[in-house]
Amino acid sequence: MNNKEENVRVVEVGSIIGTPSIRKAFGDSAIVKPSCGGKKGNWYCITCDCGFTNQFNKDTHISQGTHLLVWICPEHGLETQ
Ligand SMILES: [Zn+2]
Ligand SMILES: [Zn+2]
Repeated sequence: MNNKEENVRVVEVGSIIGTPSIRKAFGDSAIVKPSCGGKKGNWYCITCDCGFTNQFNKDTHISQGTHLLVWICPEHGLETQ
């Protein structure tokens, strides 16, 4: 995770994410877990309720403004990274 942008944070372990897309995909009590260290997954912006299919999309998205991100692991669901 590149943290050079002060306005971009990664959600903390134990947080419950309640945005529409996350609720649809993971249910009402989607709790963020510690990273499993896996390389597969996607970043998702909780602030804007949008996901990114690649690093370029994510970097463009967070280049301006404030964003809270979560890592979506295909095996475990929501994770920090
Ligand atoms: Zn965003
Ligand atoms: Zn995982």
